[in-house]
Amino acid sequence: NPSAPRSSPAMSQPLRVSVPLNQGRDYDIRIGRGLLDEIGIEARDLGARAAGIVTDETVAGLYGERVKASLEAAGLRCGLISVPPGEASKSFSEFARVCDGLLAQKIERGDLVVALGGGVVGDLAGFAAASLRRGVRFIQAPTTLLAQVDSSVGGKTGINSPLGKNLIGAFHQPRLVLADTATLDTLSEREMRAGYAEVAKYGLIGDADFFEWCEANWSGIFSGGPERDEAVAACCRAKAGVVVRDEREDGERALLNLGHTFGHALERLTAYDSARLVHGEGVAIGLALAFRFSARLGLCPGQDAGRVANHLALAGLPTRLQQVPGGAGDAHALLDAMAQDKKVRDGRLTFILARSIGQSFIAPDIDGGEVRAFLEDELR
Ligand code: NAD
Ligand code: MG
Repeated sequence: NPSAPRSSPAMSQPLRVSVPLNQGRDYDIRIGRGLLDEIGIEARDLGARAAGIVTDETVAGLYGERVKASLEAAGLRCGLISVPPGEASKSFSEFARVCDGLLAQKIERGDLVVALGGGVVGDLAGFAAASLRRGVRFIQAPTTLLAQVDSSVGGKTGINSPLGKNLIGAFHQPRLVLADTATLDTLSEREMRAGYAEVAKYGLIGDADFFEWCEANWSGIFSGGPERDEAVAACCRAKAGVVVRDEREDGERALLNLGHTFGHALERLTAYDSARLVHGEGVAIGLALAFRFSARLGLCPGQDAGRVANHLALAGLPTRLQQVPGGAGDAHALLDAMAQDKKVRDGRLTFILARSIGQSFIAPDIDGGEVRAFLEDELR
């Protein structure tokens, strides 16, 4: 099996996953505790003379000085721009402020932008890097579990429009992803759990062995044992494989949206209010729903759906619509919110469904009425 981690007790070597894209756009993902201190050497090896760090205020306070010190020790000129933490910073106004700040720092084509933070910073800084001087190179230094296993890999960058999430953006691959897994020690339990929903997702999509490994090892991921690095590496290997085969989401990359059609609808119905629901919590409920819906359609054993929900619940994640604080709305509102997702044609919805744990597939022609009846039963 290509992606199930091999458990080696003496796991102290940083791990490396390559993303073999063509046209010189291949890059490595390095994973390990303490890697932030090596960012200066890495940036110098890439031939940069200056680096513009983009981060958020929380991460700046925790890791900004260390990253700056590492870059300066390697002889790079560097500056730091921080945005307020939270999704609201993926906006036109923060995008403009970041771009102008990088220009003021005289970041040139041969220099580097460093995205230090979670997915918000990665998406925003990556899009700034894609746009500045028609494209400058950038390093992803992800500091949330979600960013380490998902958003920092694959080159999707962007910001939100008042008309919807992630509607303005570009594909721009990083030159390097440096995932310092020790940074997750300061992450809140809730953000950790939210990222874990995406970890489990990789097993559910295409790797039953990895899901089984997660069932046995999830607590080590949370506590920062060697399992954490192994899990991040396994997820990055899985994502890198999908991205290399389908960089622009013409096909297989859509499988990464398992659980997300339901999840996005829940985020929309809770007005993207992170006090109520964060993305990973919506995904957890969405994963459980995708499996129960698959079972209801007779596609997947009910036993598998039960196993998925049990595991997510054990890790402290919600798995039912009733667990959305303030309520998720009725079946009609949910279906409506799903219909606003881009994957709808003539009342037929595209879902990612499963034949079993580790065997997901794209179902392009699901009847809206079928979904509504399912949701009504779920809400009973
Ligand atoms: P986030 O970037 O908002 O980070 C969550 C919170 O954790 C923030 O308050 C942040 O300040 C804090 N934080 C970050 N690192 C920390 C650390 N080490 N210690 C303590 N606190 C820390 O959220 P996220 O969940 O990382 O990312 C969500 C974003 O990612 C969304 O905007 C989503 O659209 C995007 N995303 C993009 C892709 C992609 O392929 N580009 C994929 C998935 C998600
Ligand atoms: Mg996601």
